[in-house]
Amino acid sequence: MNPSVRHTMFPEPGDKMHDLTCLIKGCQARVYAPAGTHSICREHFLNYLTWRRRKGPQMFLKYAGMTMEERDPLVAEWANTIRVEEIPTASAPKT
Ligand SMILES: [Zn+2]
Repeated sequence: MNPSVRHTMFPEPGDKMHDLTCLIKGCQARVYAPAGTHSICREHFLNYLTWRRRKGPQMFLKYAGMTMEERDPLVAEWANTIRVEEIPTASAPKT
């Protein structure tokens, strides 16, 4: 991992490092694992795992051999299936 990601070392207001929060828009959870060149939280990581599993064992093998950059389109495809409404956020507007 990139040592500069250690957020406690660099408190820089206004310069939020995107890698510190989940890739999924609206998700405020701290990152847990990489997804392509991005990072996702634990809950979404498990969701991503399930999504890939649904695509079959071949996907698992294929994914293992892919570079981070090659995984990005796959991550984007999965991210589109995520419904942010499922995630409780502090800033969720009340209807
Ligand atoms: Zn998340």
